[in-house]
Amino acid sequence: MKLKGYSYKDNTPVELIIQGDRIQHISPCKEPASENYLIGPGFTDLQVNGYGGFDYNELHNDTLTLSSITRQLNKEGVTTHFPTIITNSSEQITRLIKQVIALRKLDELSESSIEGLHIEGPFISSVDGPRGAHPKEFVCAPDWHLMQHWQEAAEGLIKIITLSPEWENVNEFIEQCVKHNILVFIGHTNATHQQLLDAVSAGASLSTHLGNGMHPVITRHPNYLWSQLADDRLGASIIADGFHLPAEVIHVFQKVKKEKLILVSDSVSLAGMPPGDYDLHIGGQVTLSKEGKLHLRNNPSIFAGSANHIRHGVSFLIKNNLVSLAEAWEMASIRPRKLIRPDLPVFDSGAYADVVVLHRREKELGIIKTIKKGKVVYSV
Ligand SMILES: [Zn+2]
Repeated sequence: MKLKGYSYKDNTPVELIIQGDRIQHISPCKEPASENYLIGPGFTDLQVNGYGGFDYNELHNDTLTLSSITRQLNKEGVTTHFPTIITNSSEQITRLIKQVIALRKLDELSESSIEGLHIEGPFISSVDGPRGAHPKEFVCAPDWHLMQHWQEAAEGLIKIITLSPEWENVNEFIEQCVKHNILVFIGHTNATHQQLLDAVSAGASLSTHLGNGMHPVITRHPNYLWSQLADDRLGASIIADGFHLPAEVIHVFQKVKKEKLILVSDSVSLAGMPPGDYDLHIGGQVTLSKEGKLHLRNNPSIFAGSANHIRHGVSFLIKNNLVSLAEAWEMASIRPRKLIRPDLPVFDSGAYADVVVLHRREKELGIIKTIKKGKVVYSV
């Protein structure tokens, strides 16, 4: 397969040749492409609770219906995503993990698109505010035996855990995770400066949705936001949907975290659904406003995940002139991929052909074609 367009990096004409499931090469092109299309790496979303009415945090009678998430995300340029299972009873987490594993066995496209699982909780803060919409009754201290049990159920597919380092013995737990190739992210935390420092020294590598999962009001200093911003070893993910963080906060995070800042959607099942009142596992009763803000029905200041996809985040960054198109694209593709598999090339000769072709009108990005491992999985 041969694709022509303009490179997402510098807008120069390029030709991309795909052989089988790999990119054979990407080379400069003499004549410009006939259409004004941009070509770049497919998006990787490390935090997907659900999408388009389907939820990885609910058990489905027909597991195969969950493959709808993969296909609907393909339409938004997402070629890899990490189903995210949040705080629940340990038995239910095990069942939900097994459901994703069964899905991968039933559906080839979901198998190639789901490269790992993200477990967010239950080892987070139990404090109101930092806990966000996670159910308090299931929040508990880190437990390596439990983690091993889940990893067994996941057939080794758990790649990320988000926890809070405010628990005793958390650093031994973090070290075990890192030793077993599970990335440890910090989120929904009420930890002290020292606890955060120690967790990063133990191997925690990124702050999950920095600036969210916090108290509505915090002590001016010290606080867990400054501590996480100040630690240069720590990357950060952000939800750039226009509601979770004001543009000026993203501007500051970008200056501080630089190439360690990535985008996630944190999308829940209501992403892509009409506005209204809904009942969800995450937080129970929630409201999706017509502007796309998803919050607890009885407390609009507490979010219940995001109702947007990662392409929306890329567009938001560009529209608000927060970063260049190339950087926004990489925050949603190359950077998250490199966190998971630093050894593999991305959007280069020999890399898997996970490619997206976009058009750009004004500052709005639209998907023309999505290619997963050399196969066209979406085309307008
Ligand atoms: Zn969260």
